[in-house]
Amino acid sequence: MRPALPTPSALPTPPVIELRGLARTYPGPPPVPALRPADLAIEAGDYVAVTGPSGSGKSTLLHLLGLLDSPTAGSYLLDGLDTSALGDKDRSALRGRRIGFVFQAFHLLPYRTALENVLLAELYNQTPRGGRLQAAVEALDSVGLGHRMDALPTTLSGGECQRVAIARALVNRPSLMLCDEPTGNLDSTNAAALMGLLDRLNATGFTIVVITHDPGVAAHARRTITISDGVLSTRPEADRPEADRPEAAHA
Ligand code: ADP
Repeated sequence: MRPALPTPSALPTPPVIELRGLARTYPGPPPVPALRPADLAIEAGDYVAVTGPSGSGKSTLLHLLGLLDSPTAGSYLLDGLDTSALGDKDRSALRGRRIGFVFQAFHLLPYRTALENVLLAELYNQTPRGGRLQAAVEALDSVGLGHRMDALPTTLSGGECQRVAIARALVNRPSLMLCDEPTGNLDSTNAAALMGLLDRLNATGFTIVVITHDPGVAAHARRTITISDGVLSTRPEADRPEADRPEAAHA
């Protein structure tokens, strides 16, 4: 039987993500307009894929959405909060509390157990210490790794490492799960299992943004946004073939 997954702590009324003319130009010379002014709203519970060829601006967008970089123009509201007004400390705190990251390369600490890796994510949160351990155990249980909590990442398979990373991302019950090529280092079986897990997390209410060049991964999302030469465009749902719809992926 599949373990129960946790749900996000609150579903806010404003969009989780709202971009208003958000842009990023890298200073030159010559300046590189990596993200042209973009408007976008992603509502709570949505599941969005961002696709585009290499060099199109995906990483730039990921860094902006993840509050790892600042825009050169426009604004980014996360849960209705304008992030452009925040200093570094507040941005880090907001990032730690509201965003769960899942990277292609897992980014687990090699000399820490699976449980410790998940616990460390909670340092950025304000959960009392006793509750932290329980939350970390539950997060690992929910991704089917309750029996490997004391394992070091070096003794885990790629699929298991990515599930630890997912547990770490969801333990703070973030408003946004931001995934960067989450299946990029996985074989097809583990990739399918991982995408199944993301589908289930979305079904419990997590808002997910997946950056990927893989159409198979993008097909799991409810909608796809494309980026080309720094220009973001949303593809209307009606344009999508029936088999490409979320009902198919979520069935
Ligand atoms: P992708 O992730 O889709 O491959 P990126 O967001 O990494 O694309 O890059 C978008 C554009 O911005 C590319 O032309 C890239 O060369 C350029 N770029 C990325 N980072 C920098 C940087 N730090 N300084 C200057 N140009 C950059």
